[in-house]
Amino acid sequence: MTQDPIIRIQGLNKWFGALHVLKDVNLDVHAGQKVVVLGPSGSGKSTLIRCVNKLEDFQQGEVTVDGHPLSRLKRLEPVRREVGMVFQQFNLFPHLTVLRNVMLAPIKLRGLSEAEARDRALTLLRRVGIEEQADKHAAQLSGGQQQRVAIARALAMEPKIMLFDEPTSALDPEMVGEVLDVMRGLATGGMTMLVVTHEMGFARDVADRVLFMDRGEILEDAPPAEFFRQPKLERTRTFLHRVA
Ligand code: ADP
Ligand code: MG
Repeated sequence: MTQDPIIRIQGLNKWFGALHVLKDVNLDVHAGQKVVVLGPSGSGKSTLIRCVNKLEDFQQGEVTVDGHPLSRLKRLEPVRREVGMVFQQFNLFPHLTVLRNVMLAPIKLRGLSEAEARDRALTLLRRVGIEEQADKHAAQLSGGQQQRVAIARALAMEPKIMLFDEPTSALDPEMVGEVLDVMRGLATGGMTMLVVTHEMGFARDVADRVLFMDRGEILEDAPPAEFFRQPKLERTRTFLHRVA
């Protein structure tokens, strides 16, 4: 049985002014797949995943998310409902409690009651191992803890797809592991994930596919074993030598 991909990117082209940042990108991601996106700085990784939740518009091609063609979408609500995103900077509300940060969107955007939102938030905070910090202000937490709260906050909207844009790049090294562990748990639970990261161990262990982007193009798309053993292009080898 074949299913339609949950994300379908076809002939996607995007420019920032004269700068051509995505060049005829095609990509299908099926439900439950974990796709890691690698590539040098400025290659278009962030722009690509931001097109999937309509944080960025595009000029040509189409991005279809769970059957919604984004170029024709009048309202953002269907995408925001289905696609969660975690950024390098956690973007929590620092003066609100951890619990409030996670409760906010489900109350405002999904119409949950206080009690429902609290239950859901506490369950998620337990899942990311941070339940006992629920009443602290977000700003009092370490970077790794804040990023775990940011993941819980995204999950509170019950997305079908989670996008991660270098979620551990702003963290002190000793906090990277705790965030990757939460992401591993999410992967095991069957979430569809599109992850920009430089964490090669995560790519090897968790990804079904590893993409290599350079200058706005997807140049490689292979299972990690194959990708790391024998990258097709010299450019990929050079990149891997630099980051390894
Ligand atoms: P990556 O995430 O791989 O580092 P980005 O997607 O952030 O790459 O950027 C791709 C290119 O687009 C870069 O040359 C970057 O400078 C440019 N760019 C990104 N965002 C903007 C923007 N808002 N306005 C103009 N140029 C941008
Ligand atoms: Mg980026």
